Amino acid sequence: MAEYFDIIIVGGGPAGLTAAIYARRAGKTVLVLEKASVGGQIAVSPRVDNFPGIPGISGIELAERLYTQAEDLGARVELEEVLEIRDGASKTVVTDYNTYTCTALILATGMRHRSLGLAGEDTLSGVSFCAVCDGAFYKGRDVAVCGGGNTALQDALFLSDLCRHVTLIHRRSGFRGDPILVEALKKRGNVTILTDTVVEALLGENALTGLLLRSTATGELAELPVDGLFQAVGQQPEAVLAQALGAADNAGFVPAGEDCVTTVSGVFAAGDCRTKEIRQLTTACADGAVAALAACRYCG
Ligand code: NAP
Repeated sequence: MAEYFDIIIVGGGPAGLTAAIYARRAGKTVLVLEKASVGGQIAVSPRVDNFPGIPGISGIELAERLYTQAEDLGARVELEEVLEIRDGASKTVVTDYNTYTCTALILATGMRHRSLGLAGEDTLSGVSFCAVCDGAFYKGRDVAVCGGGNTALQDALFLSDLCRHVTLIHRRSGFRGDPILVEALKKRGNVTILTDTVVEALLGENALTGLLLRSTATGELAELPVDGLFQAVGQQPEAVLAQALGAADNAGFVPAGEDCVTTVSGVFAAGDCRTKEIRQLTTACADGAVAALAACRYCG
């Protein structure tokens, strides 16, 4: 028989783990299902400076602390991928290993990396989404980072400590990310910032050897030899489960207000997968608390 939990949380990032902490403190049985690694996107952030009270913590340490706190409180955390959710009086959650049932479900599925959609990005070695995971492979070598948000700026800073040279490529002249990070990058002696520039093509046979760049101002094409490209061009929602439940909008986000209540009875949304204005670590954690308390009330 399928194992029962009061609340199942899909996604073990900051929103999901915060929800687990709150639901356990309210005395509910809780299962967190995470398909990759706990912590979500924050686990690959080199340094987190905007989480109140603990400036300068590494993303992985913050993820570990959240995970330990949830587990110490009695939440069960399993590395299993949710394949199907069946709605009903109680909800059935099918993973790659098990089937569970629950009264309330919290979707905290977050976002996944957007890619540039260039030929070769899946097959050429040297194309990465994660500077923290893969940066060490490029020690002493030349790399490029594409994007103009905080991820791109932080990745470029992180890589400039390791690599011989870092070129930051952004399609506009203004950066979406924080000015303080742009200023920090400008002070690095081994960083070139190319604005109004897009990557037209990846060069190389099996491994990346360079990029074909196009200036959006002049249309001019130029080749940039690099050993690695880090794509940091934002994220898109992990939409499949929410869409199958009928809980997603056309863009794949889960429509829910600040109360985290979705259009599906007993299903709550927390974190970056929810329709909202500001997607930050702090707002993800806030959602986790709100969604958990709403789910606890639903359980009765
Ligand atoms: P983001 O803020 O959405 O930025 C994505 C960047 O990629 C934008 O500059 C965008 O250009 C560019 N872009 C998108 N599609 C592109 C394409 N097809 N070709 C070229 N460039 C493209 O994403 P993010 O940097 O991953 O950040 C996501 C969220 O996490 C943000 O809220 C961010 O503040 C937060 N975050 C915070 C920290 C922190 O420590 N505070 C660290 C990392 C992330 P345009 O600007 O022209 O649209």
